Amino acid sequence: MSKHRRPPVVRSLSALARVLARWRARRHTIALVPTMGALHAGHLALVRLAQRRADRVIVSIFVNPAQFAPHEDLEAYPRTFAADVAALANVGGDLIWAPSAETMYPHGFATRIVPEGPAAAGLEDAFRPHFFAGVATVVAKLLIQCVPDIAMFGEKDYQQLKVVTRLVRDLGLKTRIIGAPTVREKDGLALSSRNAYLSPSERALAPTLHRVLADCAKKIAAGEPIDAVLDAGRIAIKRAGFALDYLEARNAETLAPVDLRKEERIRLLVAARIGRTRLIDNLGA
Ligand code: AMP
Repeated sequence: MSKHRRPPVVRSLSALARVLARWRARRHTIALVPTMGALHAGHLALVRLAQRRADRVIVSIFVNPAQFAPHEDLEAYPRTFAADVAALANVGGDLIWAPSAETMYPHGFATRIVPEGPAAAGLEDAFRPHFFAGVATVVAKLLIQCVPDIAMFGEKDYQQLKVVTRLVRDLGLKTRIIGAPTVREKDGLALSSRNAYLSPSERALAPTLHRVLADCAKKIAAGEPIDAVLDAGRIAIKRAGFALDYLEARNAETLAPVDLRKEERIRLLVAARIGRTRLIDNLGA
C-alpha cells in the first residue's frame, strides 16, 4: 500500500491547463520533474527535492522520440508506466503529465530548437548529433505547457543540465532550473534506466566508470597534470573492457576545455559502452 493517493495521470493539454489554473488560483508554487519514465531512486530523489521547494510537483513521463537517432534504443527503451505511477504514489507526486507523441508533436510539427554553447562542447553532441535539439525542443515545450516555478534536472546528465540552464536564460523562460546530485548504487554506479540492459558480468564492471572518475578527481586535486591523469583514466576504462567514447575535463559551467592558466571549477565527464549499453557519468574535480 502506498502512503499517498495515486496521482492523477493527465494526457491532454486541456486537462493539464485545468489543473494548473486551479493550483495557480490557490497561489500554489509548482515544480516540474521531466522524465522518460522507468523511474528509479534517482528520479524519486528529484521528486523529493522538488517537494521541499514547491507546493505541487508535476512529474512528466514522455519517452521523447526526437532525442533518439534511428539506430538508438527508442523501441527498446524501458517502459514501466504502472510501476512508475505506483512509485510516484509512494513519494506523493501531485500529477503525472503523460502526453502522447501526437499531443507533443501534432501533425505537421515543424519547429526545432537547436542549442549551441554547452550543447556543442564536443561531448555527448559528438556521439549523438541530434540529441540536444531533441532535448531542448521537448524541454522548452514542457516548460511552456506547465509554466513551473522550478524544474529539477539531475547532474547525472550534466551536459543536459547545462544545456537546459542556458536554454531557459536564452529564451527568457521564467522557470528556475535546479540541478540535483547523482544518486548511485552502493558500488558507485550511477542509477540509470539503461542499467536494466546490463548482463550480470557487465553490471559487475560498470562501477569502473565512477571509480576512474573519483581517482582522476583525487589526482587532479593533488596537483597532478590533467592530461596525464586523463590518459591514465582512459587506459583504465579500456582495460576494464569498455569501448570509450570520451573521458574529458571541462569547465564546470561552460563545458569548454580547461584553461590551465586559470583557476576554474572542473567537471570530469565520461561516456563508454559496455556490450550494447552506453553509460555516462561525471564528477566534480
Ligand atoms: P531520464 O528519465 O533518464 O531522462 O531522467 C530524468 C531526470 O532524472 C533527468 O533530469 C536526469 O538527469 C535525472 N536522473 C537520471 N538518473 C539520475 C540519477 N542517478 N541521479 C539523479 N538524477 C538522475
